[in-house]
Amino acid sequence: MASLMTGNGGICRLCLQVHCNDFETIDHTIAVILNILNLTMDLAISDEPVMCKNCSRSVKMAFDFKSTCLFTEELVMLFARHQQTSHFHLKDVYKELKSLVTANDSVCRFCMTCSETSNFLCLDVMKEEGLVSQKMLDLYLPEIDYNILELLVCRPCVRSLVSYLKFATVCATTEETITKNYGRIHTNSQDLVALNRMFCKKNKDECGILRKRTLKIRKKEL
Ligand SMILES: [Zn+2]
Ligand SMILES: [Zn+2]
Repeated sequence: MASLMTGNGGICRLCLQVHCNDFETIDHTIAVILNILNLTMDLAISDEPVMCKNCSRSVKMAFDFKSTCLFTEELVMLFARHQQTSHFHLKDVYKELKSLVTANDSVCRFCMTCSETSNFLCLDVMKEEGLVSQKMLDLYLPEIDYNILELLVCRPCVRSLVSYLKFATVCATTEETITKNYGRIHTNSQDLVALNRMFCKKNKDECGILRKRTLKIRKKEL
């Protein structure tokens, strides 16, 4: 099968933007993290895939956020197992594992921060406002039990969640673009293809840089 050399062209494998020098290699560790983030990327399709600094920052932030979510989920599951019920408030978990919660306080579903209820957004309101959808949550945070009573989200988690899902959408769009173009190029069975044509439609500003490069497609047996 052919292999797309996007890395050497300075094209970020995650967002498909051109970054001449400012990028880093997507190594095994990053690949594992992308997997934990449920960002399904066929990294084997690219020779030496790289990511830009913006994507690197997004990966780190999303990973920090998801790690916190998974840790919270472990505590919640422990509590549910111990209490042998799935109908409880996060306040109950917080009281059991950390400390007392006043009547005016609430607990964040994702990070278990306890604060005044006015500092939280309801997950349902976030959905109504189009900030998140259940489909996206099921895709990228399927580990979380959304049936727990009172799903409230603290402000930092609102920002982290929205950024994570936005970044996940960018990655999914990239995957779609590459899959679509890869299929077309593969059927041409050429040894050398200027992939700049593939990306010119996306961003005309990038053409000047990309035109100088001819990215190779190499035939490779899988
Ligand atoms: Zn990028
Ligand atoms: Zn939070």
